[in-house]
Amino acid sequence: MRGGFHLSTLFQNYARRSIHLVKGSGTVVTDDKGQDYLDFTSGIAVVSLGHAHHALVKAVKQQSEKLWHVSNLFESPEQELVAEKLVRDTPFSHAFFCNSGAEANEAAIKLARKHTQKNVIITFEQSFHGRTFGAMSATGQAKVREGFGPLLETFRIIPYNDEEQLEAAIDGDVAAIMLEVIQGEGGVHQVDPGFAQKVTDICKSNGILLIVDEVQTGIGRTGTRYAYEQTALEPDIITLAKGLGGGFPIGAMLGSKELFHSFGPGSHGTTFGGNPLAVAVAQTVVDIVFKKKFLEEVEDKSNYLIEKIQTVLPQEQFAVRGAGLLLGIECDEDVLPFIQQAEKAGLLLVQAGVNVVRLLPPLTVTYEEIDQAVDILAAILLKEQIAHS
Ligand SMILES: *Cc1c(COP(=O)(O)O)cnc(C)c1O
Repeated sequence: MRGGFHLSTLFQNYARRSIHLVKGSGTVVTDDKGQDYLDFTSGIAVVSLGHAHHALVKAVKQQSEKLWHVSNLFESPEQELVAEKLVRDTPFSHAFFCNSGAEANEAAIKLARKHTQKNVIITFEQSFHGRTFGAMSATGQAKVREGFGPLLETFRIIPYNDEEQLEAAIDGDVAAIMLEVIQGEGGVHQVDPGFAQKVTDICKSNGILLIVDEVQTGIGRTGTRYAYEQTALEPDIITLAKGLGGGFPIGAMLGSKELFHSFGPGSHGTTFGGNPLAVAVAQTVVDIVFKKKFLEEVEDKSNYLIEKIQTVLPQEQFAVRGAGLLLGIECDEDVLPFIQQAEKAGLLLVQAGVNVVRLLPPLTVTYEEIDQAVDILAAILLKEQIAHS
């Protein structure tokens, strides 16, 4: 795309940045010109163990020499094993594997509707649940929904963290409430503690299922295995994807025991979901990330990163939000120009909403890399401020 107009054989459904990344190691990625960048996007919360992590490379190598694919018509002790690790010490007892976040959410929507025999699912403004028809219909952002004709009508999209509106949206048709603990795409907005409690209370007293979309927040991203663990939310279903495969495509839905019989043989499925390669990688990711010490370190790095930002940037101008290594810095204008300047200075960042810079380093990021990244960020954000005044 360099140098203006370029006739591509690809649909232009992505606003692609004009660098071509060819390799990576840990937090650092390198482009085709040999230029290095600190990757504070992690492929949007995917490459949670950094690029080319030796244990993941080994897992793929070993599995690729044994068996690449086997249909879900056959037994999978490997899926069983990862499922076991994912549900251990949680309210969930079963897992379904798929290939992406949207697919995990489709499974959750279908399971909730089949189980309750009700159709309405309450979701929230600024949410993001994926691009398939069901997940898109659940998503509370006009820019995701526009232009595709009538969507699924049975999503009731209400303001996030608004207890009154939530109460008003409840009736006998509601199958489930579905939400993110931190709205990652929508601007790094966190669920309020009081609202989380309210959601749980309403679900319990009305027999409504709670689906927590942990596609971005799950698998250690926020400093705990799952982000809901830090809240009063008591989900019946959670969905996972992004970080679960550390860069290999895999998604999962975890559900509680009561839901087991609603997903019987033939009810739902996917050809590739839980493929041996994907599951071999996911098992390795989970073994590393779910260690207490690893999660504590994510929390330590998060605190360090937040403190560092708050030291160099005036807090009244640049509010920091989020948890773990899913953080947002709110600015008072469109942050796209900042992100472009950061890229030139060797730091890759991603936007959340319009005016939030999102920080999503690999969970394995070093303190030194955090220092370097914040220095670049501060120079850019502060220079802009001075130029404006
Ligand atoms: C990225 C994301 C999705 C969609 O995942 P895909 O793998 O792109 O389908 C769904 N929910 C949340 C919260 C996400 O961040």
